[in-house]
Amino acid sequence: MNIQFTYLPGDGIGPEVGAAALFVLETVSDVFAHSLQIEAQLIGGAAIDAGEKPLPDATFESCQRTGAILLGAVGGPKWDHLTGADRPELGSLLPLRKRLNLYANIRPCKPYDGLLDRAPLKRDRLEGTDFVVMRELTGGIYFGAKGRDAGGAYDECRYSEAEVERIAIKAFDLAMQRRRKVTSVDKSNVLETSRLWRETVEQVSRRYPEVTLEHLLVDAMTMHMLTRPTDFDVVLTENMFGDILTDEASVLCGSMGVIPSASLSDGTIGLFEPIHGSAPDIAGQGKANPIAMILSAAWMLRLSFGLEAEASAIEAAVAGALDASEVTGDLGGALTTAEVGRAVAQRVRNAA
Ligand code: ATP
Ligand code: MG
Repeated sequence: MNIQFTYLPGDGIGPEVGAAALFVLETVSDVFAHSLQIEAQLIGGAAIDAGEKPLPDATFESCQRTGAILLGAVGGPKWDHLTGADRPELGSLLPLRKRLNLYANIRPCKPYDGLLDRAPLKRDRLEGTDFVVMRELTGGIYFGAKGRDAGGAYDECRYSEAEVERIAIKAFDLAMQRRRKVTSVDKSNVLETSRLWRETVEQVSRRYPEVTLEHLLVDAMTMHMLTRPTDFDVVLTENMFGDILTDEASVLCGSMGVIPSASLSDGTIGLFEPIHGSAPDIAGQGKANPIAMILSAAWMLRLSFGLEAEASAIEAAVAGALDASEVTGDLGGALTTAEVGRAVAQRVRNAA
């Protein structure tokens, strides 16, 4: 098969973890006799530095055409002086998600066994943790009107019933394939958007009588996630809460550097990226953990190309590398970003 995709390395550690993931993909395509057609494109700060818009037309066109996108990370302090849509995040990643209608962001939280003793929490509390966060990605406060006025600054949070309904359906459909439980997270005691969220989720749940629905307020959820992580199956939440809760979920999995994500629409297009950001504090030092990016590449193979055996081979190689402590410093190891990429690739080759 010809695996054609758009590669957006972006900023900070993006190009570093991206190079490790490409190395693994090259090995996989060699082992499984596929060909790789990588369309590398500029995005974010890297595009700005090249004299382009944060989301160049050529980049958007490539994403739309290939329908399979592997993204590193966008943004960093270098572009902090920019405002509004000139900023890397607001001018590239958010419009890319919006224009491709990638409203469903799926983020797994299932600690690898090899990480249970490295995570900040004790093994007996983590064992059996296996939930997925279904985060709404194209609405809410990140996309509302924002600005400054005489009174200060404002960010508007808006959700339509249709926006809540379609992400809720994704969550319930996923729960039907899993342990049939949805935990919907909102702040309905304070926010009107959360009241609409809760009402709409209740309505959708009536179509899924086999699925148990639980509602939690987001502040309480930050605690429940750490005290009873094994109780969750599908966690359904809005854009900003999902952003915050999945950074917290990374504590259960050992590091920010191990959780991949898929952003999907109703069509076949998919964007795959680690949940972490550009990590400017460690960029350029070979310290970044590439596992989240490598697993994102595996998800792309599975969901965009239907290459299940290839995706599973990468995931098994990652599990093996973790068991053998072939990891970066965030997980207590001594390997560089590139060395982890090579270790995972070698395991893919050895298993073939
Ligand atoms: P964003 O707003 O883009 O989500 P963020 O503020 O959540 O970004 P990150 O860039 O994700 O920030 O970094 C948060 C912390 O996690 C930093 O200290 C960073 O060094 C660390 N971190 C993030 N990704 C990795 C990684 N792949 N390997 C090791 N450490 C990481
Ligand atoms: Mg973050």
